[in-house]
Amino acid sequence: MVNSTVYGGAGGAVGTYSLAAGANEIGLHELGHTAFGLADEYESFLGCGIDTDRNVHPAAEPAEPNVTINTDRQTLKWRNLVAASTPIPTTRNADCTQCDAQPEPGPTGRVGLYEGAHYFHCGAFRPQFDCRMRALGRPFCAACQQRIRSVLTPHIPATVPDVRELRAQQAGNLIRAAHLVPRFVGQTSSAGWVYSQRPRAGTAVARDSTVTCQMRTGPIP
Ligand SMILES: [Zn+2]
Repeated sequence: MVNSTVYGGAGGAVGTYSLAAGANEIGLHELGHTAFGLADEYESFLGCGIDTDRNVHPAAEPAEPNVTINTDRQTLKWRNLVAASTPIPTTRNADCTQCDAQPEPGPTGRVGLYEGAHYFHCGAFRPQFDCRMRALGRPFCAACQQRIRSVLTPHIPATVPDVRELRAQQAGNLIRAAHLVPRFVGQTSSAGWVYSQRPRAGTAVARDSTVTCQMRTGPIP
């Protein structure tokens, strides 16, 4: 955050924004670039009606997960978010010398393939009609949200489940479901059950941490 009330911000290796009213929206957009590797979804560079060299996107697929030149439903980057009933492409720009002026065809927020993205009027597509990577004050589109989740998920701690007095198989299933790795020590026969566990239940640990289960045999108390 820049200690200035002049409105502005930028992405790059370190995202920046200012203290201007509303600049927190810039901060969120720039985080999209810097923290999550998202592309701009605008269909112009200098602005609609100003650009004269932004008609058709080059025939090279952008690396970012939220823009594409691919119109194949089967291989589309965000294909898991597209309903079978949604037309692909969902919108086309009838005049590639201009930004597409048509309103959202609806239903509102539908994930599809909307022409006009990555600084070009035509030939590049975005996942939803609107997105924070296209205009400030909007939520991130579903493809951007999916990317944000996948980047953040490995950093979310896992909570150790309580598996005491469970048989090894059920305990192992619960531990793995919590994104942890079970390790059974002591009496590990099929009649064994978990007598104690380390770390103990309820502890927050890094994902893929090992949970050591001390096993016993005999009746479960
Ligand atoms: Zn987006």
